[in-house]
Amino acid sequence: MDRYSRQILFSGIGADGQRRLGQARAAVIGCGALGSAHAESLARAGVGRLRLVDRDFVESSNLQRQTMFTERDATEHLPKAIAAANHIREINSETVVEPEVLDVNHTNIERLIRGCDVVLDGTDNFATRYLINDACIKHGVNWIYGAAVGSYGVTMTIRPGTSPCLRCIFEEAPPAGSAPTCDTVGVIMPIISIVAAVQITEAIKLLTGQLDQLHNSLMQFDVWRNEWRRIGPGTPLADCPTCGRREFSTLADTGGEFVAVLCGRNAVQVCPARPIAINFQALAQRLSAAGEVKFNDYLLRFRAGDYELTVFQDARSIIRGTDEVAIARSLYARYIGN
Ligand SMILES: [Zn+2]
Repeated sequence: MDRYSRQILFSGIGADGQRRLGQARAAVIGCGALGSAHAESLARAGVGRLRLVDRDFVESSNLQRQTMFTERDATEHLPKAIAAANHIREINSETVVEPEVLDVNHTNIERLIRGCDVVLDGTDNFATRYLINDACIKHGVNWIYGAAVGSYGVTMTIRPGTSPCLRCIFEEAPPAGSAPTCDTVGVIMPIISIVAAVQITEAIKLLTGQLDQLHNSLMQFDVWRNEWRRIGPGTPLADCPTCGRREFSTLADTGGEFVAVLCGRNAVQVCPARPIAINFQALAQRLSAAGEVKFNDYLLRFRAGDYELTVFQDARSIIRGTDEVAIARSLYARYIGN
């Protein structure tokens, strides 16, 4: 236990808290900037199991703030969940890492949070946050909302039945295109560090049972304008569709394939209705006549003209070079088939 000696000395944690951390399982949904920080800190703190979920791969524009990743991860186009898992194993070999390379949606979110003592929000979009909110409220799992854009950040800890849920605070997501995103207005790393630090501390309080130390509020920070604000504490709204009426609309089967424009990235993600295992070798052979193909154990990359298709093992693809769903669908159908 020598590696945790400074943390055990800290009166809020102690030997008992350290033991509880070692027995805990946390899920980090989204391994970008916030998720990188969550995963690293929780592994260093000695959390026993970490489930790392991400749909994307490492790119050089991530390295400015996504502290888990290296230039080599970007050169090798590793999926973020795999690259993060590799680094976590080197940071703390006692932490069991469970990487999941997939797009979070209604077919998998309940499985992903199952058996977790806390879920940390490292996502960059409201659709996924409402999915996490629905699944966590339904199954009584604590989760910690966090977001950062520009120099502004916000976080809230959601305890089903005790605190307001995400939908109590924001009944609807802002309309697409109306809110600034990291891809339109940028983001600086210090605000990531602040939001992540509060989320990680809340996770440690939850996992060690120090519930009276939780901040019980919506915390907002602007590190450039020097503004810090706390709203709350509040209580769950009786008529909240999610935690009041227990209607979990995002978990319902929508049928068909999922197509999502990856905002500000000039890219579209296409997911087949049913995941299928792709044989990269065979696909590479088929595509080699049409353009340049490269693949590793986790993904295949194909360049045709102005477009670049990245295909994952479950046939999900990220198509770069367009933000039009129709073009992306047609490229998917042409090259991957369905
Ligand atoms: Zn609610």
